Amino acid sequence: MRRLIHSLSFLNEHGGNILNGYLITNDDRIEELSGGVCPHDTAFFDEVIDGTNRLLLPGFVNTHGHAAMSLLRGFADDLPLQSWLSDLIWPAEDLLTPDDIYLGTQLAMLEMIETGTTTFTDMYFHMDRVADAVIESGMRAVLGRGLVAVGDGGDKSLAESEAFIRDYHLAGNGRVHTNLAPHAPYTCSADYLKKVMNVADKLQLPIQIHVSESKSEVEDSYKQYGVSPIKWLADLGVFHFPVVAAHCVHISDEDINLLQKHRVHVAHNPGSNLKLGSGIAPLIAMLDAGIQVGIGTDGASSNNKLDMFDEMRLAALIHKGHNLQATAIDAQTALGLVTEQGAKTLFLDAELGKLTPGSPADFQLVDISGPRYYPRHSLLSHAVYSSHGGDVTDVFVAGNPLLRNREHVTLDKEKILSAASRNGAKFQPIKDRYESQNKR
Ligand SMILES: [Zn+2]
Repeated sequence: MRRLIHSLSFLNEHGGNILNGYLITNDDRIEELSGGVCPHDTAFFDEVIDGTNRLLLPGFVNTHGHAAMSLLRGFADDLPLQSWLSDLIWPAEDLLTPDDIYLGTQLAMLEMIETGTTTFTDMYFHMDRVADAVIESGMRAVLGRGLVAVGDGGDKSLAESEAFIRDYHLAGNGRVHTNLAPHAPYTCSADYLKKVMNVADKLQLPIQIHVSESKSEVEDSYKQYGVSPIKWLADLGVFHFPVVAAHCVHISDEDINLLQKHRVHVAHNPGSNLKLGSGIAPLIAMLDAGIQVGIGTDGASSNNKLDMFDEMRLAALIHKGHNLQATAIDAQTALGLVTEQGAKTLFLDAELGKLTPGSPADFQLVDISGPRYYPRHSLLSHAVYSSHGGDVTDVFVAGNPLLRNREHVTLDKEKILSAASRNGAKFQPIKDRYESQNKR
């Protein structure tokens, strides 16, 4: 199927304005992107879309999250990481059924699609239901079954992980990718991580893991092992595999050297790290060291949004402020982190996140008719510093429409929202008990 979007605006390779151009897609790929008027006859196309007042951007790539935690959005706020996890989130997660996971993933995808995300990462459980929801939605995703084992046990979930990978890797016409997802160094023993590495080796797949998210995690690692979580993982051999390390907030210069030396990729989650009071990851130092970094939202219960426009703006602003340097990260770098660099961080198709001929037709159209897009000195600047996820009107993945004129094509929004609303009630007793015990 060949589709033409004419009269649209886009950014050239240097981030400059192209105020009138056209995009041609052919099946799942981009065929042509050019300034000016399309020279081809419209009869040549199966569909012609008017792109007037629309800015074309690549679809966003969210490099870290737990989609079904959308059901726990607003359930546990304003608490530090460990209390947030052990007093409220983990007891609530015990109540999550496979159907809840499916619903929570759909709820998350509604928000992600509406705000221009086309690819996301997930680490959770009942991943077969997550994958089913992804395949039906038309999105791309990198999915790993979360693995936890400090004492004995964990073998069952590792076997589940392996079965999930065999059943779903490259499902949905290649839109679903899988990996191994040990939760964190502090929730997985050395013996268990070795078992995980054996499976990663056998299946030749990457690993995703939370690392050095909070200060206390790093202090505990020094007490228990005498080294940082990153050094501990490096010594265990985990970094001999392709790894996406989420967070890396509290890391030393030695840790940065290890990440660089072992080509570990990092998922930076500025919003979640701020909201949980975890801190600010040294993004600029990591980029300066040549480390591959992408941006993630983390779950909707610690962010509480899944809007990559917000995350992109936040990543640019906090690191300028934190480094006392307005040039620390520019708009083009920030946009790259949520698109092309995100795809690279996830070890995906090197062409994903770009809008060049031959690359996957994963893109979004942003309504630039509103005041925050005037005057049009720089659409790149507006995209990074002025945009809002609510401005997205259309989203395509692999050439297929997921959102058209702000209407979902693949998901039944009304049905999902009413189910999510009903579902929320079952978590309330946990919150009530916590609040009565803590007299909040
Ligand atoms: Zn996480």
